[in-house]
Amino acid sequence: AKQIDIINTNPWGSVAPAAPSCSLADVMSEQLARQLDEENNAFPTLTDPGADLLLSGEDPDTTSDLMLAQMLQMQYDREFDTQLRLEERKFNGDSKVSISFENYRMVHPYEDSDSSEDEVDWQDTRDDPYRAEKPQTTPRKGFTGKGKNITTKHDEVMCGRKNTARMDNFAPEVHVGDGLGMDLKLSNQVFNSLKRHCQSEQRRSARLHDKKEHSTAEQAVDPRTRLLMYKMVNAGVLDNINGCISTGKESVVFHADGGSLEEQPVPDEVVLKVFKTTLNEFKNRDRYIKDDYRFKERFSKLNPRKVIRLWAEKEMHNLSRMKKAEIPCPDVVLLKKHILVMSFIGTDHVPAPKLKDAMLGSDDMRSAYCQVLHMMQQLYQQCNLVHADLSEYNMLWHDSKVWLIDVSQSVEPTHPHGLEFLFRDCRNVSTFFQKRGVSEAMNVYDLFNAVTGLNITLRLHSNMNEDHVQRRGKKTFPVATDDGGPPLKPDADD
Ligand code: ADP
Ligand code: MG
Repeated sequence: AKQIDIINTNPWGSVAPAAPSCSLADVMSEQLARQLDEENNAFPTLTDPGADLLLSGEDPDTTSDLMLAQMLQMQYDREFDTQLRLEERKFNGDSKVSISFENYRMVHPYEDSDSSEDEVDWQDTRDDPYRAEKPQTTPRKGFTGKGKNITTKHDEVMCGRKNTARMDNFAPEVHVGDGLGMDLKLSNQVFNSLKRHCQSEQRRSARLHDKKEHSTAEQAVDPRTRLLMYKMVNAGVLDNINGCISTGKESVVFHADGGSLEEQPVPDEVVLKVFKTTLNEFKNRDRYIKDDYRFKERFSKLNPRKVIRLWAEKEMHNLSRMKKAEIPCPDVVLLKKHILVMSFIGTDHVPAPKLKDAMLGSDDMRSAYCQVLHMMQQLYQQCNLVHADLSEYNMLWHDSKVWLIDVSQSVEPTHPHGLEFLFRDCRNVSTFFQKRGVSEAMNVYDLFNAVTGLNITLRLHSNMNEDHVQRRGKKTFPVATDDGGPPLKPDADD
């Protein structure tokens, strides 16, 4: 009754009648249930791009997320470095003494700077700031001062300060704070363990950077290349990069969906041939390019990474020559540094088989041989080129036609080794088609003559065996020797 009284005398007016008794938990769970129900109905909506995936219960495809994230990180790192470089320049100005921000960089080294400056051992070579400010050396005798104020080199306070000062020599990413300002004194034990920690961090970071620089087998290309590829997608030249078709010693080939370019149409399906920047693979291929007069001049001036770009460029030029002669080969879409984008030979993401893998009936095989013969003649006579790596590995069978690929190493016949390369090509072609039972297949010498239009004759004695022919051949034709010459290149993925 007292309570009713209170309610009735409530100066703010009457209170609404109390709701039927019901526990808070009930109310909550009911509300929650309704809310959940609503949410389930409201999401996903049809305008939501992931909606159909979620509705059908499939996982959205996130396979490229990691790559994207890495690319974004890479781009961020590089932008950071560019900014850093600007600041470094601003900071140093015209000063004769300059300070390097090198250690703050995210990506090592800057693009195209091939300087492999030896790492400076900062622990030993940088000046001790404490000493510089206030020269204070411990004399030989091991103590300074007199009487009561004597300090030995083992003096805790002095040692502690010195240790604090030496912390400034730690790598820049180690935030040591203003120990000096705070008059912080570090014991030797603490200092040493900090130092050890920093050194191991440095090594770890170096390893990380190392991983960044060198491509791993699964990721196939280095971050720099991934960024370039990402930029192509970003610019709309490509819609999507789907996957790797081939990983060879010298290149990695990706399949991609074509996007659009302003001046020219981009095919629906394209390949990206990425020339590998791991330099040593290219060492033994140098002679294909350094003696090619078209590239000779530039070759000698370039650093090794830029030479890789020449390979891509060379393939592009050679492909366009072939296109002019109407030899079936990929169309060049775009060249970007060491990445060549060209049309895809194949259908619906399935690349055309190499001639060595194509299961051809005897008619098709004979037709393939005739095409190859004709193609070699066109290449030599119209394009003024020698393939220099012609074999069943670098010819694809598509639409009942033989398509010629992999022409980055092709040279003009006047190349110092031009005819030698051509002879090797002929040998590969003859051997392949003869083995596949094409009776029309000429022997290597006849083929060589048929391609070049030359008439080099070789008198054969009937009692000569293969070896003799081979040896005779070596005298008559310039043939790659086993020691100096580049190896016959069966693709590394086989
Ligand atoms: P490498 O120098 O590594 O041998 P290639 O140009 O021969 O490079 O390419 C390697 C492989 O990639 C080829 O054997 C072929 O299977 C595939 N490939 C290359 N270019 C194309 C293309 N335009 N269309 C379809 N597949 C291709
Ligand atoms: Mg090849």
